[in-house]
Amino acid sequence: MTTESPPAATRSAIRPPSQLRELELRGVSRAYGSHVALKPMDLTVRGGEFVALLGPSGCGKTTALNCLAGLLPLTAGEILLDGKRLDTLPPEKRGFGMVFQNYALFPHLTVRANVAFGLKMRGTGKAETRDRADAVLRLVRLTEHAGKHPAQLSGGQQQRVAIARAVVVQPPLVLMDEPLSNLDAALRLEMRSEIRRIHQEFGLTTIYVTHDQEEALSLADRLVVLRDGEVSQVGTPAELYEHPASPHVAAFMGYRNLLSLTATAPGTAGGRGLVVTGTPAGAPAPAVGRPVIVAIRPEDLHVVADSDPAVSGAVSRGPVSREAISPEAGAGGAVVVGEAVAEVVEYHGRVLHVEAVTAQGDRLYLRTSQPVGPGDPLRVTVAPERALIFAGAGGACGTDRTSGTDRTGGTDEMGGMGGKGDETP
Ligand code: ADP
Ligand code: MG
Repeated sequence: MTTESPPAATRSAIRPPSQLRELELRGVSRAYGSHVALKPMDLTVRGGEFVALLGPSGCGKTTALNCLAGLLPLTAGEILLDGKRLDTLPPEKRGFGMVFQNYALFPHLTVRANVAFGLKMRGTGKAETRDRADAVLRLVRLTEHAGKHPAQLSGGQQQRVAIARAVVVQPPLVLMDEPLSNLDAALRLEMRSEIRRIHQEFGLTTIYVTHDQEEALSLADRLVVLRDGEVSQVGTPAELYEHPASPHVAAFMGYRNLLSLTATAPGTAGGRGLVVTGTPAGAPAPAVGRPVIVAIRPEDLHVVADSDPAVSGAVSRGPVSREAISPEAGAGGAVVVGEAVAEVVEYHGRVLHVEAVTAQGDRLYLRTSQPVGPGDPLRVTVAPERALIFAGAGGACGTDRTSGTDRTGGTDEMGGMGGKGDETP
């Protein structure tokens, strides 16, 4: 028998063109009983694109992914693949590759057999199956482990098997649900670049779910930020990073300082002992006299030396004592944010990460290369273009603060992820 596949087939296992031109979600939504987990979502994904769905736990990421996979029926809307209705097809007819948090490998099969499984199911010839599985195993650097069983591999290796298994069939779409969240921080970083490399090699259209904004920013061509089942903003990493549309998106993009102040003039906010000259952002524009949220990244909040001419006249010279920190501090200087006492100081090599508390109890997160110790009074400032002023949503900003900032700070430390929907087999 000469069922040897032509060399071209082997090559195409490594570098296929994207099979999909366009995936379109039109008003896709999903409710569990009366709870709407995903509000009508519109999104167009281009062939070869890497799109990340980003949002805190419970915001509907897994729900959206499972709707795409066909594991959950839609409550409303439709999904089109190159103009053809997809949401009416069962999961196996969609033929998407899926990678989950818990790997979901077949424990009784070897690594090679796990990877070859999908090809076998599709009736691919024996020789071609082996060639393609081996080619993909080389790509994920698992050739020497091909004969082992999953239990003999580390978490990172198991996840590479799961990725190899998903991509070997050259699916039109790869869906990944928090695939790195069970790995330790170092492995997560390594696998992140691995996933990027594999995506580039294969050119497969990928939708990647994560709660980790660093992961999303580093991997995706475009990000979809979700909040409470609703799309907050869609854009490239640079667009979202530079122009977040809301405090919620800003929090995900590293704006850890979200200060609830009042608009005192166009482009100026104050209150709680703080005065900020900033840049109006989002819509509607903040109105004078109304509550605003001022968003500032820790790296943009600077400690000013007393001799700094930028603040001379605005605040008194000389060392600031704890008692001198008054609610009026900085009121005369446009660039002055205010004064605070350093509470937590973390050493991070060239810079210190400082958590400081104002006289009114607001927390400020900043970075500095100056020697600062706990208990030191600090004067802090920000460049106006680095402070975004959003119209405040009244009570809603309280939620933004906790859900957003907590997740943005030490992303790699964030262990708890995903709702119950994460365990989909
Ligand atoms: P995420 O993946 O972003 O953490 P999910 O899509 O898993 O969020 O869940 C979104 C919301 O829907 C959550 O409030 C969750 O509790 C709820 N939910 C998820 N799966 C189910 C289910 N099978 N039945 C009822 N509610 C669910
Ligand atoms: Mg989830």
